[in-house]
Amino acid sequence: MRKIKKILIANRGEIAVRIIRAVREMSLSPVVVYSDADKVSLHVRLADEAYYIGKSQSSESYLVGEKIIQAAIKANVDAIHPGYGFLAENAEFAKMVEDEGIIFIGPEPAVITKMGSKTKSREIMKSAGVPVVPGTTKSLKDISEINATAKEIGFPVLLKASAGGGGKGMRKVEKGEELKKAFERATSEAASSFGNPDVYIEKYIEEPHHIEIQILSDNFGNTISLGERECSVQRRYQKILEETPSPFISDDIRKKMEDIAIKAAKAVNYRNAGTVEFIVDKDQNFYFLEMNTRLQVEHPITEMVTGIDIVKEQIRIASGEKLNIKQSDVQSRGSSMECRIYAEDPFNDFSPSPGKIIEYVSPSGGIGIRDDSGVYEGFDVPIFYDPLISKLVVWGRDREEAINRMKRALYEYRIAGIKTSIPYFLQIFENEEFISGNYTTNLIERIESVEKKIPEDQEFVALFASGIRSMEQNGNNSDHSHEGENSGSNWKNYNRMKTMRRI
Ligand code: ADP
Ligand code: ADP
Ligand code: MG
Repeated sequence: MRKIKKILIANRGEIAVRIIRAVREMSLSPVVVYSDADKVSLHVRLADEAYYIGKSQSSESYLVGEKIIQAAIKANVDAIHPGYGFLAENAEFAKMVEDEGIIFIGPEPAVITKMGSKTKSREIMKSAGVPVVPGTTKSLKDISEINATAKEIGFPVLLKASAGGGGKGMRKVEKGEELKKAFERATSEAASSFGNPDVYIEKYIEEPHHIEIQILSDNFGNTISLGERECSVQRRYQKILEETPSPFISDDIRKKMEDIAIKAAKAVNYRNAGTVEFIVDKDQNFYFLEMNTRLQVEHPITEMVTGIDIVKEQIRIASGEKLNIKQSDVQSRGSSMECRIYAEDPFNDFSPSPGKIIEYVSPSGGIGIRDDSGVYEGFDVPIFYDPLISKLVVWGRDREEAINRMKRALYEYRIAGIKTSIPYFLQIFENEEFISGNYTTNLIERIESVEKKIPEDQEFVALFASGIRSMEQNGNNSDHSHEGENSGSNWKNYNRMKTMRRI
C-alpha cells in the first residue's frame, strides 16, 4: 500500500476546510482544486497547493473527474478525499482514481455502486436480514403493478427515485386516485434530475424519526459503531439540524440499531467511514433507509461526543492501518447539536442569498462551540454551489446545556451582507416540541404552519421575524446586528423578546 503523504481534496466550502484541518494535524500535505468562483476561497487559502480546474459551474469543474485526476497527477498526491456531494458517491470516479494508482479515501467502487441504488441496496439488506421499509426492491414498470403494491402495503406510500439523493425525488401519495399522476411525475423527475427514471414504492412511515448510525470499517474485517444521530429536524426531506444522542430511542433500541448497522456494513464488505440511515416509527421499530458511502455532513456531532476525529480515521483506514479503536473504547459523553447555516433567506421561501459577506463574527469563543465554516469576512458567496456556508456545532454536558449553548452561539453569530438561516434556527430553539425532545420529521411543517397564522403564544417568534424584516427594510442586511444607526430598535426588540421569556 502506497504511503500517504499528500492528499488532494476534491471538494470546496466548509467540508474542504474540515478535511484540510485533519490532514494538517496528521502532518500530511493538503492539496485542493478550485473553480473561477473559488479563486480566493478559504479552502484555497488554507491548502499547501491549489490547482485550477475550470469554470464556476460544477459541471465544468468539481464534477469533472478527469480534471481532478489531472490535478492529482500534477501534484503527485498519494490519495484523494472526495468529501460529500459532487463525486463522493460516484463509483466511476473512485475507479478512475484507483486505476491511476491513487488511493480513494472511501469504500471500493463496487460497494459504492451497490449502495448507490436504493432498490439494489434494499435487496441486499433484505437478504442479509436487515429490516427494510415495506415496499418493493425492484423499480416499478406499470400502473397496475403500482396499484397492487400500494394496496398491499397500505396508504400513505412514498414513490422514490432509485438513484435519488439529497432529499430529492420523493413523492408522498395519500390515496389510490393520485397514484398514476404521481408515478408519471416521479418518473420524469427522476430521469431529469438523476439521469435514471427508475422509481419504486415504500410505505410512508407515520410520525417518522430519521436516526442514523455512524460506522467505521477497516480492511481487516473490523467494524465499529460510533453511535447514532437524530436527524428528524428536516425541511422538505432535507436535514437542517442534527443532535446526538437521540432524545427518542431507548438504550436497548440504540444497541439493536448499532448491531444491525454493523451487520449491514459487513454484508457488503464495507470499508472506511459510512452511515446507515434508518426510519424509526413511533413504537421504535426501525427500518433501513439507505447507506451513505461517504463522510456525512453532520459527522461533527459524533466527533464532539466521542472525541474521535472521523476524517483522521478515514485517512488511517485508507493508508491500510488496522482500526485502533475497539468497540468498548467508544464512549459517548454529553450531548451535541449542529445547525446548518445556509446562505438563504428564511423569510423568502429559503431562496438562495449569494453575495459579499461584509461582516462576519463567528461565535466560536467560549466553552463547547465549534464553527466549521467555509467563509470569511469579505468573501463573496458564489451562487453556483450548495448554499451551506458553515456548520455551528455545540457540545453540552446534557441536552439542556447544549440547547442553551446553541442559542447563545446563534445570538452571537453575526453575518451581514447576505441572508442566512440563523433567525430560523432561533425559532426552532424556542419551540416547545423541539425543546421537549419529543418531535418527528413533521416538526418543521408544524412550526411553519403555526408561524403563518401567528397566534398570541407565538408572539415571540413573530416579533423576532418582524425585527428581522424591519432591519431589512432599513437597508441593513445583517441578521441580528445590534450596531449601526438603523438597527437600534431591532436590538431593543431582541431584548424585549428576552424579557418576554422571563415573565
Ligand atoms: P447528509 O446526511 O450527509 O446531509 P445528504 O443526503 O443531505 O446527506 O447529502 C449531502 C450532500 O450531497 C448534499 O450537498 C446533497 O445535495 C448532495 N447529494 C447527495 N446525494 C445526491 C444525489 N444523488 N444527487 C445530487 N446531490 C446529492
Ligand atoms: P435521500 O437519499 O434523499 O437522503 P432517504 O431515503 O434517505 O433519501 O430519505 C430522506 C428523508 O425522507 C428521510 O430522512 C425521511 O425524513 C424521509 N423518508 C424517506 N423514506 C421515508 C419513509 N418510508 N417514510 C417516511 N419518511 C421517509
Ligand atoms: Mg438519506
